[in-house]
Amino acid sequence: MLLGENCVHETYYELLSVKEDASYEEIRNSYRSAILHSHPDKLLNSSRCSSDDEKFLKIQKAWEVLSDAELRVVYDNDLRSSRHDGIVADEISIEDMSVEMAGEDSEVIELFYQCRCGDYFFVDSTELGTMGFGLLRDGGCVQVRKLDAFVASVVLPCGSCSLKTRVWVDSDMKIPIQDDQL
Ligand SMILES: [Zn+2]
Repeated sequence: MLLGENCVHETYYELLSVKEDASYEEIRNSYRSAILHSHPDKLLNSSRCSSDDEKFLKIQKAWEVLSDAELRVVYDNDLRSSRHDGIVADEISIEDMSVEMAGEDSEVIELFYQCRCGDYFFVDSTELGTMGFGLLRDGGCVQVRKLDAFVASVVLPCGSCSLKTRVWVDSDMKIPIQDDQL
């Protein structure tokens, strides 16, 4: 991942001149007008320079990511973690987290890791699913499957304080389920 780059370069939202909570339609409209002003064809008669092409490519890239709901989730996650509004306190493996089954009939698997403030970092299998990871209960443990994820880690905020933790995730990792959850 290129987390450092987000700090110095324009974000995809800035490139498309939209707010970070913009809807798909707002992003699409902004993309269209940005393209009109920067498409290489439109610039044929003006004095072209490579920065025009570069800008066009950046806008294309921004659109590709922000128009795709799943890619946008991953990008937002990266963006948040690259900012200084919180500190990534720890780096853990998903195997270090505790498992809680949401309920008898529920397919949702919840994962916790205690923050130093006493509250928890939390993620569930639904959220991990949108990032391309699958959780599968297998007897006394939960198995991690990498589906279509192209990131290897997820940054989770604490429920109470501003600390964050980076959780490394990979295929075939196993998270043991505590006895009282079995
Ligand atoms: Zn905390």
